[in-house]
Amino acid sequence: MSEIEYEENSETRRIYKTYADTEVASLYVNVECPYCGNEFQTLDTDSCGETYTIDCDEDLEDGCGKTFEMYFDAS
Ligand SMILES: [Zn+2]
Repeated sequence: MSEIEYEENSETRRIYKTYADTEVASLYVNVECPYCGNEFQTLDTDSCGETYTIDCDEDLEDGCGKTFEMYFDAS
């Protein structure tokens, strides 16, 4: 596991990706918040069989600020 660089904001952490990062296999995943239905994308949450904790970001998107889990599988 490589160290993740991020910026600490008031409540959330922001990660930065550039074109140089695209050589790493990554995928945007379209998700819907199960609380408010807000649709947005998550990055690097595409490992099969993994459960991810995701924040419905009320700053970045029109989210509700709640935290939910996303389970990712191949099908
Ligand atoms: Zn939400």
